[in-house]
Amino acid sequence: MTTRREFLALSAAAPFVRPDFSVAQDAGDSGLVTGKPMPLKYEEIKGFLSKDQLAPHHGARYSGAIKSLTQIESELEGADRSKSNANYSPIRELKREQIHAMNSILLHELYFSGLSAKGEKPGEAAREMIEKRFATVDKGIEDFKAAAIAARGWAILSYHPVNRTLYNIVTDVHDVGPLVSGIPLVVIDCYEHAFYVDYKNKKADYVGTYPQFIDWSAVDARFRGLR
Ligand code: FE
Repeated sequence: MTTRREFLALSAAAPFVRPDFSVAQDAGDSGLVTGKPMPLKYEEIKGFLSKDQLAPHHGARYSGAIKSLTQIESELEGADRSKSNANYSPIRELKREQIHAMNSILLHELYFSGLSAKGEKPGEAAREMIEKRFATVDKGIEDFKAAAIAARGWAILSYHPVNRTLYNIVTDVHDVGPLVSGIPLVVIDCYEHAFYVDYKNKKADYVGTYPQFIDWSAVDARFRGLR
C-alpha cells in the first residue's frame, strides 16, 4: 500500500501531463470507443468542400479505417506471438497496421470535427497560446500552411505535454510517427544501440529480460496521471 507521502513523491516525479481530450474532441464519441464512425457535422461546406468530396472521404477512408481496425484486432487475438520477427511476421504487420488504422481514425475525427461551415476566429485560449508561440495568429497560420504544403499525409498543430509547447508537425503517413495523443507508459528502446554491446544479435533475450527491470514506481506514476 502506497503511503500518501510516497504517492505525492511519485506524482511529482511523473514527467507527463494528462492531455485534455475535450480541447480536441469528445473522446467518448470516438470510433476507437464506439467502434462506429462519428457522423459528419456537415454534408458539405459551401466554398470549401462539396458533398462529393466529403462523403467518400468520410465513408471510404475514415469509416474504412474503423472496419480495418476491427479486423486487425480480431486477427491480433489469434496471432502467434512466438513467431514474432522484425524482418517479417504477422504480428509485426498487424501491430503496424493497428497503429495505421488507429491514427487514421483519430486524425480524421480531429479533421472532420475541426471543420466549420462558417468563418470563425480563434477563441481567447487558442489565440493566447498561438500568439505566445508564433507572435501572431497570422504567423502561426503561415507556419501551419507551410507544414501542410510540405506534408505527404497530415500537418498537425500539436501541443506537446512535456514542454507545453505548440508545434506544427508533419506526418507523412498514419503510422510513421507516434500514436496521436498517446501518452507513453512503458517504453523499450529496440534500436540495436540499446542492446548490441551486451546481447549482440540476440534481441529476443534483451526483450525477454526487460520486463524484470521495469521501474514500476515510475510507470505506476504515469498511469496515475491518466486518472
Ligand atoms: Fe483522409
